[in-house]
Amino acid sequence: MVADVPHKIYLDESEMPTRWYNLVADLPEPPPPPLHPGTHEPAGPDDFAPLFPMALIEQEVSAERFIDIPGGVLDVYRLWRPSPLFRAHRLEELLDTPARIYYKYEGVSPAGSHKPNTSVPQAYYNHQEGVAKLTTETGAGQWGSALAFATAQYGMECEVWQVAASYRQKPYRRTMMEIWGATVHSSPSDVTDFGRQLLAEDPDHPGSLGIAISEAVAACVADPAVRYALGSVLNHVLMHQTIIGEEALLQLAKVGETPDVLVGCTGGGSNFGGLAFPFLREKLAGRMDPVVRCVEPAACPTLTKGEYRYDFGDTAGMTPLMKMHTLGHSFVPEPIHAGGLRYHGMSPLVSHIYELGLVEAISIHQRECFAGALQFARTEGIVPAPEPTHAIAAAIREALACKESGEEKVILTALCGHGHLDLAAYEKYLSDEMVDYDLPESAITDAMASVPVLA
Ligand SMILES: *Cc1c(COP(=O)(O)O)cnc(C)c1O
Repeated sequence: MVADVPHKIYLDESEMPTRWYNLVADLPEPPPPPLHPGTHEPAGPDDFAPLFPMALIEQEVSAERFIDIPGGVLDVYRLWRPSPLFRAHRLEELLDTPARIYYKYEGVSPAGSHKPNTSVPQAYYNHQEGVAKLTTETGAGQWGSALAFATAQYGMECEVWQVAASYRQKPYRRTMMEIWGATVHSSPSDVTDFGRQLLAEDPDHPGSLGIAISEAVAACVADPAVRYALGSVLNHVLMHQTIIGEEALLQLAKVGETPDVLVGCTGGGSNFGGLAFPFLREKLAGRMDPVVRCVEPAACPTLTKGEYRYDFGDTAGMTPLMKMHTLGHSFVPEPIHAGGLRYHGMSPLVSHIYELGLVEAISIHQRECFAGALQFARTEGIVPAPEPTHAIAAAIREALACKESGEEKVILTALCGHGHLDLAAYEKYLSDEMVDYDLPESAITDAMASVPVLA
């Protein structure tokens, strides 16, 4: 093995970037605006004011290229940032590839994923504007725990609706949220009208992310002193995550590398956007030319099989309409283990740049992902969360293609979380009980019928 680059590439705290990057500033055309769910007119700041603090609404519509990270956020980021960039020497050796694989590891955060990069500023700006309590939804429990951690930093309350299936299957995530002081409900719950209605139809309802969003939004609008926080999809969320890519740019520069291929897993698009957007800026400016590729689960293929349409972000149809790649807001994906990738839509910004041809997309079945995750864990050591196993599988595909062609490509990916609370998924894989789901066209056609038709 040629260890021409150290295994860990660190930044000092003093080198941590102090600005987030807003990709919108550099796009040839801006993404289409969100629409009011009733009038179908472009939604304005007032439409979002019951849900979000003004500072985040301004970031949501901003065309400024860089936004300064407040000192009160940097202080909390320094609990775990800058995060390490690793060169995957041992995985490369196993694959016998001439490619050089780098991964940016976000599992070092207190909640174990990239999500605190946005939960912290979201809690901070709400706190600044006098909001004492936030509501939210969580699927696998990653976002709920990230928000519970963040609200604890600013002495705020946090109420979380966790998708019923994962509430039952993942008791430790719930305990984490409770350690940080949050209140957690199984969704559908008996504390909202929509939840009670669904429970009356089916007391064992498994829930879905779209349903949990509807409940958290309903609880927020019912109390003017409460605001809501979303862990992915929105422009301001993706912007907060760009600290990942800004750090990675500095780290790769330290070892004199530029990526040829960048791959990231996409659920709502935030860890992907966070890593990729600063590199897209460099690409648009002609300073590098990486191929940038989204990787989604074959069971929830929003970019590769969904339509680019205005649709609701939630199941009940309460949120503004967003133009995005969608499988239909009533789509309920099969219970794959990557809970964070089971969302019917894709970030409007990622959908827009996909339409512009700035990024590619592929989908991969979960068994290939877990096979890759084992190769990764047995060489690099870290047990990945089920979501980034998609990014790892795509990086392995690319590295094996380099073995065929003899090309020495530089591959960059985000290992956006560890899988220490997802061992049940690994157990299923190791005991050969994990299945791949073939998504019938009819499942998409049926759910697409629920998407509103605009005049
Ligand atoms: C939430 C989550 C995802 C999916 O969300 P994105 O917005 O697409 O990043 C992926 N990986 C992990 C570890 C998550 O917690």
